[in-house]
Amino acid sequence: MSLAQPLDADPAPPAPTFESTDPATGAVVDVFPVHDVAAVGAAVERARTAAARWAALGFDGRRRRLAAYRGHLARRMHELADLVHRENGKPRADALLEITLAVDHLAWAGAHARKVLGPRRVSPGLLAANHAASVEYQPVGVVGVIGPWNYPVFTPMGSIAYALAAGNAVVFKPSEHTPAVGSWLAAAWRAAVPDVADVVQVVTGFGETGAALCRAGVGKLAFTGSAPTGRRVMAACAETLTPVLMELGGKDAMIVDDDADVAAAADAAVWGAMSNAGQTCIGIERVYATERVYDAFVAQVEAQVRDLRPGSDDAAAYGPMTMPTQADVVRRHVADAVAAGGRVLTGGTVDGRYVTPTVLLDVPETSAAVCEETFGPTITITRVRDAEEALERTNANAHGLAGAVFSRSRARAMDLARRMRTGMTSVNSVLTFASVPALPFGGVGESGFGRIHGADGLKEFTRAKAITRQRLPLPVDLMSFRRPAAAADTLARVMGLVHGRHR
Ligand code: NAD
Repeated sequence: MSLAQPLDADPAPPAPTFESTDPATGAVVDVFPVHDVAAVGAAVERARTAAARWAALGFDGRRRRLAAYRGHLARRMHELADLVHRENGKPRADALLEITLAVDHLAWAGAHARKVLGPRRVSPGLLAANHAASVEYQPVGVVGVIGPWNYPVFTPMGSIAYALAAGNAVVFKPSEHTPAVGSWLAAAWRAAVPDVADVVQVVTGFGETGAALCRAGVGKLAFTGSAPTGRRVMAACAETLTPVLMELGGKDAMIVDDDADVAAAADAAVWGAMSNAGQTCIGIERVYATERVYDAFVAQVEAQVRDLRPGSDDAAAYGPMTMPTQADVVRRHVADAVAAGGRVLTGGTVDGRYVTPTVLLDVPETSAAVCEETFGPTITITRVRDAEEALERTNANAHGLAGAVFSRSRARAMDLARRMRTGMTSVNSVLTFASVPALPFGGVGESGFGRIHGADGLKEFTRAKAITRQRLPLPVDLMSFRRPAAAADTLARVMGLVHGRHR
């Protein structure tokens, strides 16, 4: 039998590809393969082999290599920011800010992994007093990361940095709208950490590529994106009982209390709502201002918004909507708000992919602009009786990602922050929690579950391992068929004396 190919055999069809484009100009940024089930499986297998070597390096070996990676990124921040600007559309300055934050998280994760995850002695308790007991947090192997396009560096890095520091390899599926940034991050790893280059792999494509990653037998799937896709990801992961982390959308509110610094609150609300063209999961989309400050707050917002201009030049406040469908959502929400009796204070117009800064007043709580994630440079401002009513309305939304409270009273603000049904709250600022690496990041309700960042974020990518070690044998071993017949009664008497007195 000949092994030679017959001359007329069809060559293997070329892998399908897709283009990533500049949202401002439509120019092609680059062309990428659509990775299929086999290609995703192969990437996960390569990562699995690399994961064993990565885990064996220990905390110190990994910390050194993570430092090399962050050094590599830090020296090329402008190059990466330029790519983010071209592929996502945001101003270079915002891209730089995003990259800086990601680098800082990489530093924290690498520096704290041993302390948070390393073996720790715990009290063995009364029943196992002759044993030593310890807990440690072991890597899950390969972590699949599926990311969105709105913060194409910071958002996936919240999973990637912490998963790597915890001893895992990563297979990353960036959004189909930002594959160039995702591929750049993976190539940067290969260049900076060549001895374990396969620890970070990237696969590109659309939803099917992401679904293939969910079914590829990864140890955990970290998903960041919309709630509808999150449900599909969970369903696919359920087939193999693959655990999931869900970082989903938000409808974040700001509460402006009677005693707030109104100018500062307006400044923060405008930045929180409009920066990144409002395409921020933790962006401010609703403001509830008390009767006492409402008029002054609206006047301040109107004055500040007047100077904002979208564009793709370096002086623009924010860029185009990354995809045309996002502009459609804004159009729909504004129209729905107006039809329901809302008033457009400023903006409300969409020119191609550019949305003018839009402030909506008197919008009913049942309107899409108040209930659903808009993801555009828009904000609703609603007059409320007091901060309690503001909190009630804030918490009535199905999402629960983050929010902000403005008040000069520390006790009052902290009380409102604690009772806000969200994973994160900033007092007298917006979005600050995202820049504190030690703080966990994640939501409740429709905003998802699980946490990235901080000690919780490191633990998210591990499994807890409990070990007991017998230090000395006891004359009576309760977990043996050779125990005396009366041993259980004696134990029950002792425990009765210790615990029975509590009523
Ligand atoms: P999306 O849900 O459309 O897509 C997210 C990712 O999922 C993409 O990579 C996409 O290719 C992939 N995907 C699509 N279908 C899939 C499937 N069936 N199986 C597996 N993967 C699939 O979200 P988006 O438009 O890219 O991102 C915007 C959303 O992300 C907003 O709702 C925003 O609030 C949210 N977000 C949340 C956070 C957070 O940390 N909570 C951060 C950034 C963005």
